[in-house]
Amino acid sequence: MSDKIFIGIDSGATTSKIAAVRADGSIFPSELLQRPTSSEGGTGAVIKAWVGAINEFLALHDLKWDQVDGVGLAVPGPRRSYGVLDSSPNLSAEFDGWNVERDLRVALEHESGRGLPLALGNDGNFGGVAEAHRARGSEACGVVMLAPGSGLGGAYVDAAGLPMDGDTLAGMEVGHLAAPLHLLGVDAMTCGCGRDWGCYEMYTALAGLPGLIERALPRYPGHVLEDPSLGKKQRAMKLRGLAQEGDALALEIFDLQARAMGLLVAELAMAVDPGCFVIGGGLIDPDATTLEFRERYLGRIKETALKYLWKPQQEKLRIVPATLGELSQAVGAALVARHVAEMA
Ligand SMILES: [Zn+2]
Repeated sequence: MSDKIFIGIDSGATTSKIAAVRADGSIFPSELLQRPTSSEGGTGAVIKAWVGAINEFLALHDLKWDQVDGVGLAVPGPRRSYGVLDSSPNLSAEFDGWNVERDLRVALEHESGRGLPLALGNDGNFGGVAEAHRARGSEACGVVMLAPGSGLGGAYVDAAGLPMDGDTLAGMEVGHLAAPLHLLGVDAMTCGCGRDWGCYEMYTALAGLPGLIERALPRYPGHVLEDPSLGKKQRAMKLRGLAQEGDALALEIFDLQARAMGLLVAELAMAVDPGCFVIGGGLIDPDATTLEFRERYLGRIKETALKYLWKPQQEKLRIVPATLGELSQAVGAALVARHVAEMA
């Protein structure tokens, strides 16, 4: 096997993670390496932190720079254009308009002694690339990744393994599509994005739980979440644990979230007709939920979606849980770097 590797950096505002893949696309076995992004020190400090973390990763695994054939960087949106960051509430004004692509390219060239292929992309899309790579195995098919967390992330990865970014890099912002509320039996809750048409995010992710709990509580008099000392957020955080214990209110709400996700799966099948859907997020995390709960959640998603699909889709549809957890975005960045290097 070739000893070449491709490095992926998953940059968050506070910490960055490093992962690598081999030339054959397999994940380089390593512990999660996570280091401060150092954004408080400005753009130069961030570049230095990333390069330092790569150096540490290489040293840990007895690797040299001449084995590195490409680097990928996953950054949170929004971005102004390819490689240029937009202003973000988490970053100082210095980062507004920063050409991260150019600065990182220069730093990598300095470090490695040669020009290296560099791939840059949205972290959610790169996470989708890695999960799609895993989920599709040897089958060439399009994959949609849906990851409910605080909001609802989405990605479409084509059969070649590349994400659909869109012309303003806002492609697959599926959390802000409108859900068919009449099928869910709920009213339109205004989303954090400002839209009032009933964004899916409000019915599938943490963001909408306070509102859903508020609507459900009157049907469950004396419920433990009625406790007035609990804040809205605390209630939402408690819900997942309650569902694992079989609490009826909690299960009702997660069933609703699963049905909403099922409807979204069906709508996306109409739009991009993928062979596989990957569901990520805390609800399918084996460390956070029981097998029984996960089967119920994924089962409801599938059962809801099936009704709305074309016949060939009904026969073929695969819905699988995500498996890479917090490594996915760094691994996806490395995989896209590998693709870019192949194209070069
Ligand atoms: Zn929205």
